[in-house]
Amino acid sequence: MPDVFADLVGQDEAVGTLRRAAAAAAAVLRAAAVPPTTDAVGDGLDAPAEESDDGQPTAAVNAGAGMTHAWIFTGPPGSGRSVAARAFAAALQCAYGTGCGGCPGCHTTMGGTHADVRMVVPDGLSIGVNEMRALVLRAASTPAGGRWQVVVIEDADRLTEAAGNALLKAIEEPPPRTVFLLCAPSTHPDDISVTIRSRCRVVPLRQPAPDAVAEMLVRRDGCAPDLARWAAAAAQGHVGRARRLARDPEARRRREAVLAVPRRLTGVGAAFDAASALIEAAEAEADAAVAETDAAERSSLETALGAGGTGRGATGAIRGAAGQLKDLEKRQKSRATRAQRDALDRALVDLAGFYRDALTMALRAPVAPVHTDTAALAGAGAQKWDAEGSLRRLEAVLECRAAIEANVKPRIAVEAMMLSLWKG
Ligand SMILES: [Zn+2]
Repeated sequence: MPDVFADLVGQDEAVGTLRRAAAAAAAVLRAAAVPPTTDAVGDGLDAPAEESDDGQPTAAVNAGAGMTHAWIFTGPPGSGRSVAARAFAAALQCAYGTGCGGCPGCHTTMGGTHADVRMVVPDGLSIGVNEMRALVLRAASTPAGGRWQVVVIEDADRLTEAAGNALLKAIEEPPPRTVFLLCAPSTHPDDISVTIRSRCRVVPLRQPAPDAVAEMLVRRDGCAPDLARWAAAAAQGHVGRARRLARDPEARRRREAVLAVPRRLTGVGAAFDAASALIEAAEAEADAAVAETDAAERSSLETALGAGGTGRGATGAIRGAAGQLKDLEKRQKSRATRAQRDALDRALVDLAGFYRDALTMALRAPVAPVHTDTAALAGAGAQKWDAEGSLRRLEAVLECRAAIEANVKPRIAVEAMMLSLWKG
């Protein structure tokens, strides 16, 4: 049975930190369970627990070595921020304190149904203050499973200022058994406020090396080594994308369509057609990306709800079931919206890679191309456009990404980009 950290590719250092923290957290729970007369200091902790005035170990999480109340997982898209946060949440709920992958704590956390783990996926483009207040309130309650209340906030960079302040209050005076796990691209003040940052421990994830990604595709998904290597390189360090490219012929076809854009831009009409095609491809990719997780979450929740079957709890369980399913559907819908934005952004990253290849070739820079399979086409572009024209096109793609990030309607931004790419 692979443990909960198995899918964190090329992140040995972060996994080491999280394993130590999970062990320390388990030790805190054991220390708290020991009667006050027993000397529990050093019981499995890496370093002595801080002692209160009466010489007993405090139950405060901060006292345990390696464990703390608030964490930020940073790294580029696809490096596995939310995968890491979920795995850590599972390790905190694990009956063995290790993230064994097999116990009910691990299993329900990974399946998204643990009662004490809340995954916050931003609803649309920002996380509002009401959602955050409700969350902070629930996070303060005693964990039903007797271990930790864990709140995972994906894309914490999308907190509104008011929501950030509500979260900050909770992090400043954390309930003793509550752990906040935030995910953000970086700790830059644009992504996460300086005050929140100062209260959190940072777990930096790196862009995984193509070799590590390829190895995982072979080991976990049974991909052919050649295909795995190509997919890992083409995905530029994005694990989820590499996996889809390796396993899904449709994903490969969509990528090829994106990289065919520069060839197709022969006039104004063609530019608008290319814009529509790009947006529709992103929607199709997003649907494919969330379908598997959605189905797994739903069946996992249905199993959990059906498990009550008979007896005194059954009526209550059925009453709660409809609400839980509705919650899940809402969460899945907002994830689909985000997935579309992400897919479009990845298409733009692919396209930027193409013009970047053209630019480096025009400059005769001694660097390997991003896209080996369109290198010849990029070379032809380099000759036609020269360095200056290649750079203008690269900038048009980057400006499109920035515009979408700044909430310009995607179709409008993409159409403007296509016109710039055509005109040069
Ligand atoms: Zn476990």
